[in-house]
Amino acid sequence: MRIIDIAETTASIASDIRNAYIDFSKMDVSVVKITTDVMRQGEPVVGYGFNSNGRYSASGILRDRIIPRLREAGPDALKDPARENLDPFRAWDLMMKNEKPGGHGERSVAVGVIDMALWDIVAKIEEKPLHQLLAERFNDGKASDHTFVYAAGGYYYPGKEITGLQDEMRSYLDMGYSTVKMKIGGASLKDDLARIEAVIDILDGDASRLAVDANGRFDLNTALAYARALEPLGLRWYEEAGDPLDYALQAVLGEIYKGPLATGENLFSHQDARNLLRYGGMRPDRDILQFDPALSYGLVEYLRTLDVMRQAGWSPSRCIPHGGHQFALSIAAGLGLGGNESYPGIFAPFGGFTDTATVEDSQIPLPATPGIGFEEKSRLMALYRDLFG
Ligand code: MG
Repeated sequence: MRIIDIAETTASIASDIRNAYIDFSKMDVSVVKITTDVMRQGEPVVGYGFNSNGRYSASGILRDRIIPRLREAGPDALKDPARENLDPFRAWDLMMKNEKPGGHGERSVAVGVIDMALWDIVAKIEEKPLHQLLAERFNDGKASDHTFVYAAGGYYYPGKEITGLQDEMRSYLDMGYSTVKMKIGGASLKDDLARIEAVIDILDGDASRLAVDANGRFDLNTALAYARALEPLGLRWYEEAGDPLDYALQAVLGEIYKGPLATGENLFSHQDARNLLRYGGMRPDRDILQFDPALSYGLVEYLRTLDVMRQAGWSPSRCIPHGGHQFALSIAAGLGLGGNESYPGIFAPFGGFTDTATVEDSQIPLPATPGIGFEEKSRLMALYRDLFG
């Protein structure tokens, strides 16, 4: 029971969209395929991993440090001591050997890419969908077969700001989403309010079906000005108002803004998550935590993050991960999270869910295929064949 090959490359997910902070014209991802000597249905078990959008490929780190450490480990180094399987926790320790603490950044992306592929393998060896395996190991067997998803988009449309935005949001409603999210902070407060009200109009006036996302753009004064303007609307949540590491800004915002706040997609370790909960004034009865397992050292680290949340009095149901990928969806369904992000039509084929999964009232079904379910994403599998043969 061992890994016989780790193939790694990069792939583009460039697009012409932009948020309040970055454009995606050069966005790419690291992609790995790990092959084992374990046979199922006459074929070697393979695992697939990639990082989600917003952070670039971490291929230098993968090639120079992370993958060599796995290759140099002995043949039994990754074996689970309790089961006939690989052990992602042992792999994590090997990958992080001789890495100093703190400074969680691109390294967390590299480890997350491998971790995703390893969990795909672990579930395939047990011949179960990953969400079921996770529920059995970590959640008293309570797997959900549907998960809440919301459609994230609402970018800027120079020249057709209101009609372009409304058309986009209507397309999400037509796909079965009832809850949507739009970008703010790329225009003036006055213009953003007009955009927000235009979207609320097509949600039958129900602002609780709309979240807004400033992508960390605002200083304290701007964050508070938006808070005062947004609060009477009753939005689903107000996301990433200020810099992701400015816990004092977040804490002041939480004193002013009574509605739900969301953040966490740019925190990449359980230590950073713990600091947010210690110092960011986040409220466990209403706020949303968006840590993305694919960007933050993978599921092994995400389990640690859930532990620090529990110690701070938070339920896993307050988590709705960033990223819109099938890995986080499996984690959400297996570990009792509150849902998962979705980016209909962008960042494919890495983003998005299985070919036949249809969204109804913002709920999406989980795949029955062993592993994460990537074999039910035909465009992703075709791309993997192109990349690795
Ligand atoms: Mg966001």
